[in-house]
Amino acid sequence: MREVAPGIHHIPIPIPYPMKYVNCYLLKGDGHALIDTGLDTPEARRALTEALAHFGLDLADLDEVLLTHHHPDHYGLAGLLEAAGARVRMLDVEYQRGHAQWTRFEAHLPQTLQAFAQHGMPEPVRAGILETMRATRRRLHPPQHPETFPDGAVLEVAGMTLQAFWTPGHADGHAVFLRPADGTLLAGDHILERITPNISLWPHSRPNPLKDYLEALERVRALAPERALVGHYGPVIPDVPRRIAEIQAHHQARLEHLKTLLARGPQTAWDLSLALFPGELTLAQRRFAWAETLAHLEYLVAVGLAARLEGRTIRYAPA
Ligand SMILES: [Zn+2]
Repeated sequence: MREVAPGIHHIPIPIPYPMKYVNCYLLKGDGHALIDTGLDTPEARRALTEALAHFGLDLADLDEVLLTHHHPDHYGLAGLLEAAGARVRMLDVEYQRGHAQWTRFEAHLPQTLQAFAQHGMPEPVRAGILETMRATRRRLHPPQHPETFPDGAVLEVAGMTLQAFWTPGHADGHAVFLRPADGTLLAGDHILERITPNISLWPHSRPNPLKDYLEALERVRALAPERALVGHYGPVIPDVPRRIAEIQAHHQARLEHLKTLLARGPQTAWDLSLALFPGELTLAQRRFAWAETLAHLEYLVAVGLAARLEGRTIRYAPA
């Protein structure tokens, strides 16, 4: 637990994913607020409780939980902290889209499974992935009465002034929070080091998340933050423009690679994801690889560099 900016303390919470930890941040000023929460696992509950105890606090002392996005590792404990007395806030878009993914989880499943099938995912893989999704849902404790704020909102959080910015791409309603007083950006998973944030197209998501994401990177560059406090690894990225340029170059390279693969002839998003992400991946990682491939394919379709061939199975080909 390190003070990574004045009044902002890094709290790493263990998660059962390859990144090993999600970075949460305790804002200690006039009151106490937590940025993001970890998944609802016994290990995460223990780590959070022990971290707060280090400051002489317990769960009930948190006045507010501010969420960057609805992914399980950032949002999973929000309901528990709400029940202990914290106010939970998220961007209005994330309430309507991401939060609804969890509160209407079973209702959304048929359309999701249909999309998996249409895009060429084999049946045994679909069944396995469905089980991993249900297992994730069981480790979530959604907030019951979250409050929302709009893009651009100025928020008073633990006595600090933060400005919220909508940065879609990694999640439809992803938000980052800038503290104008010192240029600290609480960046969630919008910018990461060591890995690039997953950009996925899901049946219920906005139609072109990669376009959203590349535009949102430009938006953050224009904010000219002094440093970013990020959701995994880091936790501090001191040179934000340099990391943004690296992530942009990564996506351009992936688009070029995908164009080369498309030249082999019409293929499903599933087949292309196996070529774009070769090697051993868990089922959950395969699902992300498929959805990220689909995001890149639909980006190419939108700019006229690929064609979507509709049918019982959807295939992609050069335009
Ligand atoms: Zn995420």
